[in-house]
Parts: sequence; structure tokens; C-alpha cells
Amino acid sequence: MKTPLILDGKTLAKSIEEDLKVRVQRIKDKTNTTPVLATIIVGNDIASVTYVRMKGNACKRVGMDSLKIEMSEGASTEEVIEKIKELNRDDNVHGILLQHPVPSSIDEMACFNSIDLSKDVDGVNTSTFGRMTMQLNSFKCATPYSIMKILKHYDIQIEGKEVVVIGRSPILGKPVAMMMLNENATVTICHSKTKNLKDIVKRADIVIAAVGKPKFVQAEWIKDGCVLIDAGYNAGNVGDIDIENAIEKCSAYTPVPGGVGPMTINCLIAQTVESAEKKFGIV
Ligand code: NAP
Repeated sequence: MKTPLILDGKTLAKSIEEDLKVRVQRIKDKTNTTPVLATIIVGNDIASVTYVRMKGNACKRVGMDSLKIEMSEGASTEEVIEKIKELNRDDNVHGILLQHPVPSSIDEMACFNSIDLSKDVDGVNTSTFGRMTMQLNSFKCATPYSIMKILKHYDIQIEGKEVVVIGRSPILGKPVAMMMLNENATVTICHSKTKNLKDIVKRADIVIAAVGKPKFVQAEWIKDGCVLIDAGYNAGNVGDIDIENAIEKCSAYTPVPGGVGPMTINCLIAQTVESAEKKFGIV
């Protein structure tokens, strides 16, 4: 078996940032405005605090501003929605991110659905999902979009391939399955009630793991030559695929860290730049 190709999201994100810097500068030159991504974080989840900081740093690197709104763990759904509506009305804000997950007392979907579609740069509103699925003009859910960009960049064929997605969350499994379908893959979506998961995964030309369980996907489930996309990010920088053992069987894989994660942030930033360009009619 040949050495597998590393689908290096970190390097790809860095190279796209160079282009984003140019686009941000053009917006500044033409409009005297700096694009702004507003991030709302509810509570003090350590991982979420880190993600929001990484997103703020990425904004800085391309010359954008970020506006961080911290809400207490005890905030209500209504309070979060009120804050989102304020940001919807704020002309200085071009993108809104509500950091997932919010505390379980909050209706996350209701909050996502209150984000104005023109500022839904993380692609989490149900209407954004529907429009993307129907191949209408829309922003795209950031993590699934990052997976598609990585596969395209590395010229991995999708059309006609058997794709198995493990996980069906609204921000990852479901939208990535629809994106794959729209690229003419034959898609199977697996979840916690799926029977014979191993046998289904064994059929796959491309496996997308979005489970949230460290090293969940085992090497013996993998067909030789399969492409492995690991969207999982668990404590200790561990993905959802047991890559140490699966590496010998696959033809390509996304490393954790340095695969899907950096490209997810990149897609979020890119869609905020796009939102600002659309607002000012810059093409
Ligand atoms: P989630 O909402 O918890 O969804 C997990 C999914 O896995 C669910 O659909 C669940 O099925 C399924 N599942 C759980 N146990 C299973 C089993 N034994 N067999 C088959 N399916 C099983 O998680 P998420 O938000 O989609 O995130 C998934 C992973 O991606 C996490 O590690 C998260 O940290 C990571 N993530 C990474 C990024 C990034 O930027 N890299 C962004 C978002 C998330 P049911 O629906 O039946 O419960």
C-alpha cells in the first residue's frame, strides 16, 4: 500500500488567508469599513472559549475585527435571541456566530433560526440548510463546507463514490451528507441506532466521522484505499477515527489536529468577508 496522502487543512487554510487579506483590504479601501464577525458565547465551556479565541485570532490575521459577546451560563433563550436580533440590526456587524454548544437550558435551534440569513456565516439557520440542500444561493454550514473544500483542493473524486457519514447532527452530519449528495455521491448516514455499522463503513470509498467519540472508527472497519475524513475533535487532540491503526489501509486522511478544524475557521472567516462584499456590492 502506498503512503497515504495527508489532507492538510492547516496549510490550505493559511494559503486561503492570503487571498482573504487582499479581499479585506479591498473592502477597507473602497468603503472605509472593516468587516466584523460577532461571536456570542454562552457560559464558560473551556473548549468553546478556546474556539472563540481562535476565531478572533483568525479575524485579526486577515485584517478583520471581531466582537465578542459573553453571556452568563444562566442566560435564557429569549435573552440570547434578543442579543442576536440586536446584532442583526447592527450595520457594523457582517457575520454572527453563536458558539455551539450552548447550555442545555437554551433552545439552540431557536437561537440559530433568529440569525438573519445575510449574516448567517456559520450556516446554522434552518433556512440556510434548506437553501443549501436545494442548491440555492446561501452561506454554508462551516464544518461541512470545510470538508468539501478540502476534498476539492486535493482532487478527491466524489461523484459516484460511496460515502458513509457517521453522525447526523444539524451542524455536521446532516449538512455534509446533503453536500455530498449534491456532488453526486451515494450517501449513507449512520447514527446511534444504526445496525451493522461496521459492515456499512466497510462499503465506503469515503468515510466522514462526526461522532464525538475518541478513536471510535476502527481500522478493521475500513476498506483498503478508503479516504478518511475525521471531523471529530476530542480531549487530548484526538479525532473520531483510530488513525494510528487505520493509516495503513487508507489512501488519504485528514489529521487531527490540522485537518478539518483550521478549515472550519477559515470557512467562517471567508463567509464573513463574502457577507461584507455582498453588502457593499463588491464582486
Ligand atoms: P453531536 O451533536 O453530539 O452528534 C454526534 C452524532 O454521532 C449523533 O448524530 C449521534 O447519533 C452519533 N453517534 C453517537 N454515538 C454513535 C454510535 N455509537 N454509532 C453511530 N453514531 C453515533 O456532535 P457534533 O456536534 O456533530 O460533533 C461531532 C464531532 O465533531 C465532535 O467530536 C465535535 O467536537 C466535532 N466538531 C468539530 C468541528 C470542527 O471544526 N472540527 C466542528 C463541530 C464539531 P444520534 O443522532 O442517534 O444521537
